[in-house]
Amino acid sequence: MQRKADPLDDIFNKALKGETLFTDRSVLRSDYIPDNLLFREEQITSIGQALTPTLQNQKPSNLLLYGKTGSGKTAVAKHVLERIQETARQNNKTEIMIAYSNSRLAGSEYRTLVDLGQELGIKIPFTGLPLSEVLDRIYKHISKNNIKVIFILDEIDFLAKQSYDDILYSLTRSSEHLGNGFLSIIGISNDLHFKSLLDSRVLSSLNEEEILFHPYTVKELNKILEDRTKTALKEGTVQEGTLNLCAAMAGSEHGDARRAIELLRVAAEIAERESKPKITEQHVKTASHKIDRDRITQSIKTLPIHEKIVLTTLLDEKKGLATGEAYQKYLILTKKIGLDPLTQRRVSGLINELDTQGLVSAKLVNNGRYGRTKNITLMISNETLQETIEEDELIGQTIQ
Ligand code: ADP
Ligand code: MG
Repeated sequence: MQRKADPLDDIFNKALKGETLFTDRSVLRSDYIPDNLLFREEQITSIGQALTPTLQNQKPSNLLLYGKTGSGKTAVAKHVLERIQETARQNNKTEIMIAYSNSRLAGSEYRTLVDLGQELGIKIPFTGLPLSEVLDRIYKHISKNNIKVIFILDEIDFLAKQSYDDILYSLTRSSEHLGNGFLSIIGISNDLHFKSLLDSRVLSSLNEEEILFHPYTVKELNKILEDRTKTALKEGTVQEGTLNLCAAMAGSEHGDARRAIELLRVAAEIAERESKPKITEQHVKTASHKIDRDRITQSIKTLPIHEKIVLTTLLDEKKGLATGEAYQKYLILTKKIGLDPLTQRRVSGLINELDTQGLVSAKLVNNGRYGRTKNITLMISNETLQETIEEDELIGQTIQ
């Protein structure tokens, strides 16, 4: 029997024939840590220096690493710690344990401690215990088993922003609670102002040593990309100018290596899908749009329903809407969907949240009809909003 043309055949055949631009796709993933971290000798040396007491069975200082996103903080911290763990093993020193938690992903101080507990091999219930009890169990376990642990608290600014000083205070002074073993903290922050959010007592024990990661220059980004390309992509697949453009685009705000590598990966995927033999500057531009659009789509999709409705009121409103007008449209939409509307005050609050997220801009203006009011305008493309809302189960039908 003759089979109908199947789009999957085409995709699978290509894969079978090995028509790919990549030699190793995983090298361009954001969590990949290369052996060779360029332009970070100074930081690697300082962290290595600060951690040497570990090899002499002593507690190293707590460290604070800070710098903008994509400046190599996580990669460098993990790299140095792996090396020190390896060295300890090779020289028959006592085992060094590395624990890792990302505060933004953990979301609360309790979850951060659950992460730490898990890495240490103690079970902590996901909810329910007072924090002091959890800390107590962790300290007892470390002391009893004479464990030497270095705890990387990544994106620690998220804990500080929620004014969770208590656990930071305790963790950074863990020696006061431990008879044996030690617990040192490596805090990593993307937010340069984060120190001002901390209680001064916490700050003084956290930044016993402080290491700054400056943003990469466009030239440095270029070199990082060149280096990565060697193991990630087949020879001759990158057209001249492509890496330069990735570096220039990623460097336009602050030199962000994550963004540069992501641009190259997505551009390569687009070129591959188009069955092109080379990744061109045009692919990079398309990749940049796609990344931005995907990010916006994702942030709209995860909005609470009433915020989504408020955002929808701005669809096709090129000049924006006054708060009162937006509220009237909001009432109509909630009615169509069959939801109970929130009060205008609550909706004003939601507008502020959308403003903080950069999805809308709400500016105070003098408006004859409504007096002093806010004018709300869309900060993302109307098209992206429309496409995303059309797919929404609840709101989708109301805008057809
Ligand atoms: P940060 O934690 O500062 O946001 P990361 O350490 O996650 O940044 O780095 C982002 C990406 O860039 C990762 O894929 C990492 O491997 C890569 N990267 C960062 N700095 C370098 C460097 N100096 N050399 C090579 N790759 C790097
Ligand atoms: Mg990081």
